[in-house]
Amino acid sequence: MKRIFARHAYDDARIAGCYWAEAVPDRLLQRPDLAGDQKADVVVIGGGFTGLSAALALAKDGADVMVLDAVFPGWGASGRNGGFCCLGGSKLDNSSLERSVGVAGRREWRAAEKAAIELVDDLLTRHGLDVDRHSDGETLLAHKPTFARFEDEIAEVERDYGVTPEILTRDMLAERGLAGGFHGGMTVPLGFALHPRKYLVGLLTAAEAAGARVFGNSPVAGIERIGSGWRVSTPRGHVDCSQVIIATNGYSSEDVPDWMAGRYMPAQSSVIVTRPMSDSELAAQGWTSHQMAYDTRRLLHYFHLMPENRFLFGMRGGLRASPGAEAGISRAIRRDFDAMFPAWRGVETTHYWSGMVCLAPKLAPFCGEVPDMPGVFAGYAYHGNGVAMASYCGALLADLVQGRSPDRPYPEIMKKPPGRFPLGRFRRAIMFAAYAGFWLRDRFS
Ligand SMILES: Cc1cc2nc3c(=O)[nH]c(=O)nc-3n(C[C@H](O)[C@H](O)[C@H](O)COP(=O)(O)OP(=O)(O)OC[C@H]3O[C@@H](n4cnc5c(N)ncnc54)[C@H](O)[C@@H]3O)c2cc1C
Repeated sequence: MKRIFARHAYDDARIAGCYWAEAVPDRLLQRPDLAGDQKADVVVIGGGFTGLSAALALAKDGADVMVLDAVFPGWGASGRNGGFCCLGGSKLDNSSLERSVGVAGRREWRAAEKAAIELVDDLLTRHGLDVDRHSDGETLLAHKPTFARFEDEIAEVERDYGVTPEILTRDMLAERGLAGGFHGGMTVPLGFALHPRKYLVGLLTAAEAAGARVFGNSPVAGIERIGSGWRVSTPRGHVDCSQVIIATNGYSSEDVPDWMAGRYMPAQSSVIVTRPMSDSELAAQGWTSHQMAYDTRRLLHYFHLMPENRFLFGMRGGLRASPGAEAGISRAIRRDFDAMFPAWRGVETTHYWSGMVCLAPKLAPFCGEVPDMPGVFAGYAYHGNGVAMASYCGALLADLVQGRSPDRPYPEIMKKPPGRFPLGRFRRAIMFAAYAGFWLRDRFS
């Protein structure tokens, strides 16, 4: 696998401190490795939300489906994210969407975002999954006194999602237990927070119960054409199959398959979790709500108080991957946390971890057949919002693989195969310039 970050980016050390692993340890997710010559209808490469959601839907439809993960299901972003099951998946605003896919295309995309949350909700209910669900929608918090612009967004949210957001003044935020130096906020009543590994292990168990065969420690090194099908090879075996789904997102490589080269941009995201806090500590900061929230910065922070009163706080960043760079990020994230929640300066961080999200040049996910590779499909690039959208993309892929038109919104923007970023394997250089621009806008615009 030719990957574009240094080896440290893919190192187990980066999830050693993951809070979610306390309730769902790695051993519950580990699976045997693939050995020998095997056959399947469909091979899914990658055992995160995309791959497992696809495998579950395919297995339920009676397909012989096999999931291969390089490490174990949930080792990637799906087992280590912030737990926001929310709208999102693209970085395009409405006017960019309309320029690219027209008004109908914008509507379809917004409908898909909403349907993605509903799909996760439905999966949790259908499979009886207890995922420590909390938060009623999601609150956007203004880091500058320009929050009046939220008023302008009410009509857009109503038109896009058919719900009315609530605008919150600074005083209202304090009344709701969301005090943190923010100038105002807007709650969109869609989405909820969950324990991502509990959701992941629930999907895994359901997929296996439906007949999917799941393997860990099985990095796919190549996909080659054999007759009218495909041979998917790992170090100790191979599988001959009719169809393949690539579900590797931020952990993709340039050569699995070669088509991926340059068509994805991994980006790092990092999270800290505090020890549980007492009621008086929460009251001292004025943050007592379990609402999930994020701020208006371009390099945004995302956070929520979890049911056991630990605070989860995450942010994007970190352009280099090395133990030294990682130490720098862990200091930076704590510094931002202390600045935003000063009453909790003395509250210890008990957990720190980081992982990879994924961007595409078109700033929206891809979900479809890979050009010139009949029977090979891919779903990736959720731009940091994949709990709902990756699950959704997996369900769409299950239909596409079976030659069915999805009976859920399948937006035009997701159908377009991504082009290539400039600079090939050195394309991460683009992110240095982009992050510098975001940093300046966050401070000075
Ligand atoms: C720190 C962090 C916080 C986040 N917070 C949120 C959040 O709060 N809400 C939200 O919506 N999204 C969040 N995200 C993003 C979200 O987690 C991802 O978009 C989503 O999990 C992607 O799922 P996936 O299945 O496509 O990929 P992943 O879960 O990354 O899975 C890809 C899998 O592919 C496997 N793989 C790669 N190459 C190969 C190969 N050659 N052979 C076999 N297997 C291979 C990897 O081992 C990995 O397990 C966050 C991400 C991070 C890193």
